Amino acid sequence: MGLGIGLLGFQTTIANSVTLSGTGVHSGAEVAITFHPAEPDSGIVFQRVDGERTVSEFRAVSSQVGNTDLCTVLGFSSSTSIATIEHVMAAIYALGLDNLLIEVQGAEMPIMDGSSAPFIEAIEQTGIETLAVKRRYIRILKPVRIESGPSWSEFTPYDGMRFEVEIDFDCPLIGRQAWKGDITPSVFKTELSRARTFGFMRDVERMWAAGRGLGSSLENSVVIADDNTVINIEGLRYTDEFARHKTLDAVGDLALAGAPFIGCYRSYRGGHKMNANALKALMSDPTAYEIVETATRRQRVTPREVIAVNAP
Ligand SMILES: [Zn+2]
Repeated sequence: MGLGIGLLGFQTTIANSVTLSGTGVHSGAEVAITFHPAEPDSGIVFQRVDGERTVSEFRAVSSQVGNTDLCTVLGFSSSTSIATIEHVMAAIYALGLDNLLIEVQGAEMPIMDGSSAPFIEAIEQTGIETLAVKRRYIRILKPVRIESGPSWSEFTPYDGMRFEVEIDFDCPLIGRQAWKGDITPSVFKTELSRARTFGFMRDVERMWAAGRGLGSSLENSVVIADDNTVINIEGLRYTDEFARHKTLDAVGDLALAGAPFIGCYRSYRGGHKMNANALKALMSDPTAYEIVETATRRQRVTPREVIAVNAP
């Protein structure tokens, strides 16, 4: 079976703290983040700090997600929220990390090169430690589907963690393309982690004029010109880099379930909002999933533990 996320079923954290810094894509400001090891059952926690002062703290779960227009934001007020968490969450989820404290000097994650690769590198540099407490998984029991115009996304039962993400752009360079596969740490690393954010030149110019996306540049996004060519001199990292990046985004957004899921997630013309809504639809139907302690054997846990997985 394709479940690469901790076959042994024990929780993990990182061995030592590690710091990264880079540009925030929305503010254009320099931001630094530090990953710290954390206790079992503490989950992935983001802490916004200003010097020595803690501004806010959020567990990375769907109930804490505010805005999803341009990126995924934790929190509901700009003075305390933490933006652009999806590429970091994708790296954490794909590597099978359960517990982590992420200290952020600023209001958003650094965009780095627009992919998850720099976060994977940082985590691998410090190493992953296994803890003596069992991990919980969310096993999909029946299909859950949402639709919005031509877009749809659905969870279905599957013996592993599978993503099938298809995009369809009215732009010949992108067109219709899909990435389908079982997610394991090595599959994520080689096939998805390096896929960058992308955008159209006309949108970038509009965003800049509105004072947004100030940190966005050719160093952290693939930019497509009006004549349907890639502006970046280095070109694309994969011919279907667009579908791969959308899959990376979906991995990061579904990480907000608070536990790895066992099932297949399919989406067509989706995005952060569809991913967030699909997760909400799944979580709001207790007959659609069960919380299990091992990936291989059916073993129900108590309702109290179910709540703990997605607790604020
Ligand atoms: Zn993205």
